[in-house]
Amino acid sequence: MALTRTRRRARAVYGGLGHPVEDGVMVVQEAADDAVVLYVGSDDEAARRWPDAGARDDGFALSPAPVNAHVHLDLSTMAYVEDTYEAFVRAVLAHGRAGGRGLEAAKAGLAEVRRSGVAAFGDVVADAEVMHWLLEQPNLSGVAYWEVIAPDPADADRVFDEVVEALRAFRARQRPDGLRVGLSPHAPHTVSAPLLRKLAQLAQANDLPLQIHVAESPSEVRLHRSGDGPLRELMGDLLGAFRPSGRTPVGYLASLGVLEAAPTLVHGVHVDEADVGRIERSGSVVVHCPRSNAALGTGRFPWETYAAHGATVAFGTDSRGSSPSLDVQAEVAAAQALHGDRAHVGGLVRAAVKGGYRALGMATPRITRGTPASAVATWRIAADGTVVPPSSAI
Ligand SMILES: [Zn+2]
Repeated sequence: MALTRTRRRARAVYGGLGHPVEDGVMVVQEAADDAVVLYVGSDDEAARRWPDAGARDDGFALSPAPVNAHVHLDLSTMAYVEDTYEAFVRAVLAHGRAGGRGLEAAKAGLAEVRRSGVAAFGDVVADAEVMHWLLEQPNLSGVAYWEVIAPDPADADRVFDEVVEALRAFRARQRPDGLRVGLSPHAPHTVSAPLLRKLAQLAQANDLPLQIHVAESPSEVRLHRSGDGPLRELMGDLLGAFRPSGRTPVGYLASLGVLEAAPTLVHGVHVDEADVGRIERSGSVVVHCPRSNAALGTGRFPWETYAAHGATVAFGTDSRGSSPSLDVQAEVAAAQALHGDRAHVGGLVRAAVKGGYRALGMATPRITRGTPASAVATWRIAADGTVVPPSSAI
């Protein structure tokens, strides 16, 4: 049986190690019943070593499958909102009161995430029934983060004890081929300072992945700076004991010692140079959700500042409430359009793959000589930036 060799070219070719090769190639060798990667690197070198190989243009990128590092599956039946952050929060609360959150929505969300072709995902879970169901599912990879919202410091000890009990029960249900349990204190203004401290210490002591929304909107910055504004008005009495620290939201987390647990930080839009330096030094990963930021008008993520500091960025879709789909490749396409020349294709692909795995505390799979070609993801972003929908259901 003759062997067929193909030089598969793409704008970014990534084997999971170092930096992607821009305008690179993967050489794939096919036999009757198997196909393996022979080479990952420069097209000139591949053409020299395998002059008889055919060439094929595979478009945007070839890499290990990307990761969706931040989603809320139980909001998958919520209507898409394009409005202010505060209006979005009101819509989420109304959707929940109307019974729209829960298992059926999570099932729909999981089906969509599986179709999108990601290798792993990080889901923020607000309901114990959903958590139990997710942990029972085989052949899933990633983290199910248990969400905590408790802004009143008077509740800190009681809520902490409840969280410890809940996590104990969830961890007992983890399966070797399923999701890992994590913890998500929702945001610096929705979890009181004493509880945030205790949860971060709990995560650190128990090797629990941690994920926190932070520095998402201008109103969040204003709340921390001066204690007033739209977010204060939204939360009303719930924020009764909250006193502004005068710091940035990330500076506030750092002052509580939360960054020492190296949490994954979701959004990270409103940060200054000092914040980005703190994030990089702590080993925290920031999850970029550009379509959610655009829908809620919260501002542009400073991609180039994170890149200049060498901080690790991942991608997440956030929920269907602020994102038109749960396809992380559409998120990368949106980032490319948003940041233009400030973001290289290789950097975007590396973030969606290696950044995503790091955000979830996982190792990045490698594609190297001998790797089955089935491990190679061919990205669906077309030359004009549109994203071809995922076709095959798993
Ligand atoms: Zn979110």
